[in-house]
Amino acid sequence: MSVAEKIETEGGRDFVRDIIADDLAKGRHKQIVTRFPPEPNGYLHIGHAKSICLNFGAAAEFGGRCHLRFDDTNPTREEQEYIDSIQRDVRWLGFDWGEHLYYASDYFEQLYRWAEHLIEHGLAYVDDQNPAKMRAARGTLTEPGRNSPYRDRTVSENLDLFRRMRAGEFPNGARVLRARIDMAAGNMNLRDPALYRILHAEHPRTGTAWSIYPTYDFAHGQSDAIEGITHSICTLEFEDHRPLYDWFIEHLPVPSRPRQYEFARLNLAYTVMSKRFLKSLVDEGRVSGWDDPRMPTIAGLRRRGIPPEAVREFVRRVGVARANSTVDLAIFESAVRDVLNRTAPRRMAVLRPLKLVIENYPEGEAEEVEAQNSPEDAAAGSRRLPFGRELYIERDDFLEDPPKNFYRLGPGREVRLRYAYFVTCREAVKNAAGEVVELRCTYDPQTRGGNAPDGRRVRGTIHWVSAAGGVPAEIRLYNPLFTRPDPGAGGDLMAALNPDSLEVLSGAVVEPSMVENNADETVQFERQGYFCRDRDSAPGHLVFNRTIGLRDSWTKARA
Ligand code: ATP
Ligand code: MG
Repeated sequence: MSVAEKIETEGGRDFVRDIIADDLAKGRHKQIVTRFPPEPNGYLHIGHAKSICLNFGAAAEFGGRCHLRFDDTNPTREEQEYIDSIQRDVRWLGFDWGEHLYYASDYFEQLYRWAEHLIEHGLAYVDDQNPAKMRAARGTLTEPGRNSPYRDRTVSENLDLFRRMRAGEFPNGARVLRARIDMAAGNMNLRDPALYRILHAEHPRTGTAWSIYPTYDFAHGQSDAIEGITHSICTLEFEDHRPLYDWFIEHLPVPSRPRQYEFARLNLAYTVMSKRFLKSLVDEGRVSGWDDPRMPTIAGLRRRGIPPEAVREFVRRVGVARANSTVDLAIFESAVRDVLNRTAPRRMAVLRPLKLVIENYPEGEAEEVEAQNSPEDAAAGSRRLPFGRELYIERDDFLEDPPKNFYRLGPGREVRLRYAYFVTCREAVKNAAGEVVELRCTYDPQTRGGNAPDGRRVRGTIHWVSAAGGVPAEIRLYNPLFTRPDPGAGGDLMAALNPDSLEVLSGAVVEPSMVENNADETVQFERQGYFCRDRDSAPGHLVFNRTIGLRDSWTKARA
């Protein structure tokens, strides 16, 4: 990180907030107004979360307001499902637009009138060239473009054609309304960009009222101006569009003059954020849906058990700067762990069970032991766990021939069963294939609660679930969706998909309290990681997603 970037991101302050603070201090605005402007053509992803936290967060911090505006100018890709999911996801992240919910389509009539205004002032014309011709005449970064043969049409001819475009007289793609700026401009965006296209398509909100739709570039800045947006914050790829947006604002009788500021978009290692690609994963069935817990979507993160606070904390740690970069997954994961470590209640679950029978525990008897909900926070209270003669422990907490530094179970070794007793392994029972299928143990009744009155110590403490009281569960473990940190580098994204991104453990056992656990409460299964109940759960069939493991297994494993 350069010094300049450090200054930009330090102390929760960044260059955008500095600009806002300065504008307020100098009296340029009494109140700031920002907006988050998604196109409803897919679900929101973690990259959008950065923009949401910046726009809504800065507005809240400076006593302003933030609008939610759907940039719904392309009816062929937009759906109500996306509109609904976007609102749900922004709310879930903890933000509220109050009554300020808008749609670019609300402004279609006004935008149309402004297009006519440009025509009337000789600043726009209808072009009849086909798309290929138009592209060819655009020139390159080093060569100027060529003027269209239709560029000098009269105002009245342009008005007539544009009105007939609106009336639906021409087929898709037959004509385009273009701004009349400069085909030799160094900035390609100023080479007579398209303002309106003919598109006979039904729009989710305006239905079949329109046969022409404004381009994103023509709609975006004017929508900001209509809403009185003071700080139009967007990602860096729009920097080159700013001169065009400013040109529109200059030549149109708009009610306000927004200023645009660009910041670096969020890129995350092992992650792809293109909505088009995410949609193809859904459409091709590579994932179970937009909310598949492996997806970088907000809906996927939520289903995986990541709390909204962790997403906000991650975004805060990443900061807002002007240099593009890719953020390490470890930064995301540490934010998630830090939040969950503080907030997630502790529970017990055995993911890969091995039966343990306590031979000297009276048959037919049972008891309950007291377990803390949080090791650091006594106020989180405790719960009672059933304990009895037959238990399950984790398969890899036993080794037949353990090395010296293995502090769990082995033949003749003693360990503490968390919150319960000391047990000693007497025998490992095997099946015909030679696999250990059961441990025969004895327990020391004097060690109830997990301490020996004689001061005797054990090095290991393991978790367990009572065989009689435990509840069977399916556990889903997730790994990154891609095998490479930069999945886009090789070109073929589908080929970079990780075949082992989902691992299902069907025979897990969880403590009985998990039957009542809510889907939106992520818990820590002691020694295993953080988990939350999946919505695939049904009575008698519990399913849990692993939100994240306890430790950063990454940096080492993948280095
Ligand atoms: P696509 O994925 O289809 O290219 P998009 O992600 O840009 O599109 P929009 O709906 O246009 O989708 O995005 C809404 C807002 O979110 C825009 O202001 C955009 O700048 C911002 N945004 C999108 N992706 C990111 C990202 N990775 N990091 C930060 N902001 C983002
Ligand atoms: Mg976009």
